[in-house]
Amino acid sequence: MRVLVTGGAGFLGSHLCEELLKRGDAVICVDDLSTGRRDNIAGFIGDRKFAFLRADVSTALQVSGPLDVVAHLASPASPPDYHRLPLETLAVGSRGTENALQLAERKSARFLLASTSEVYGDPIVHPQTEDYCGNVSSVGPRSVYDEAKRFAEALTMAYARTHGVNVGIIRIFNTFGPRMRAEDGRVVSSFIAQALNGDPLTIYGDGEQTRSFCYVDDLIRGILAMLDGDETGPVNLGNPVERTVLELAELVLGITGSSSPVEFHQRPVDDPSRRRPDITLAASALGWEPRVSTEEGLQHTIRYFRSHRREVSAAAESLAGAQFEGTPARESLPADRSPLASPA
Ligand code: NAD
Ligand code: UDP
Repeated sequence: MRVLVTGGAGFLGSHLCEELLKRGDAVICVDDLSTGRRDNIAGFIGDRKFAFLRADVSTALQVSGPLDVVAHLASPASPPDYHRLPLETLAVGSRGTENALQLAERKSARFLLASTSEVYGDPIVHPQTEDYCGNVSSVGPRSVYDEAKRFAEALTMAYARTHGVNVGIIRIFNTFGPRMRAEDGRVVSSFIAQALNGDPLTIYGDGEQTRSFCYVDDLIRGILAMLDGDETGPVNLGNPVERTVLELAELVLGITGSSSPVEFHQRPVDDPSRRRPDITLAASALGWEPRVSTEEGLQHTIRYFRSHRREVSAAAESLAGAQFEGTPARESLPADRSPLASPA
């Protein structure tokens, strides 16, 4: 196959490019490097089946030759990134998605949209099934991402219904792994970097909010199954094992052997209080389920971060200074009074 991956130099996009190349597909990666990195794709730059095009897909998207699939992953994804790039996030979810859909239509290619569990907002239905319509603020600080993705889903379905484009929508739940940027502000990368630097782990709110963390290899297998099939979706892809943020902190401290304390900060506005995918549809339609536990995934990711010490050290300042518009901070506790401290 010949596959175009928008956002291919990002965390997930670079893993997708790598897996496609491994199985013999040709890959065109289009990325503006706004939140991605050349380093992520440095390993395949010399591969004759790989081409990199630096471009903003919100402006235009044209390539010559046939395409079998357009996989649209371009978008800031970390909350600090989309808070920093609000208009760009809305643009890539709307104009960027339409440019990618039009390209798929011109090439008679399958179109795959990387949507998100954020379309469920702060969910009232738990775990989240695909037919749940969500609880989303259209004006809050997260709306630039949530509504961009909701619009992208609507546009994708409109192109399927109106122009007969072969589309597939996946809703990705929190995924982590090697190639996350140490300073990108997401909870897994932040906690690992802070633990390795010996800095306090920044817990937003009381840490009782939950997420379900999927390891990147599992997610990419799911994306490939969706890309190879003809399921329209939307299909949830994520690991259904739910953890509190405090439990995650505990896991990271345990695996790294770090004695960093935890520190409580204000909770971002509209931060979802719980999140867990129902993956019944992914199992039946794609034969997919995760195989890697959060613990094992963390071990791989921590090994990667340990091998990128300079980048991890450089992230310290931006992670300590991360500020959100949010609810008041809880009092910070010294390490021996932290909820993670062992009983005396
Ligand atoms: P990322 O920030 O590492 O990757 C996004 C990539 O898109 C970057 O390389 C960035 O430079 C590129 N990009 C952004 N705007 C662009 C534009 N206008 N033109 C060209 N390139 C552009 O994030 P990620 O975690 O790899 O996420 C990839 C996709 O998966 C995103 O669409 C995101 O919404 C979705 N997703 C990710 C997660 C997750 O947990 N990682 C969860 C839900 C959804
Ligand atoms: N979080 C945290 N400390 C951090 C970064 C994030 O406690 O340094 C929390 C955040 O408030 C949220 C959860 O961890 O409840 C997951 O945040 P992340 O930004 O990774 O992803 P998302 O909110 O998009 O699910």
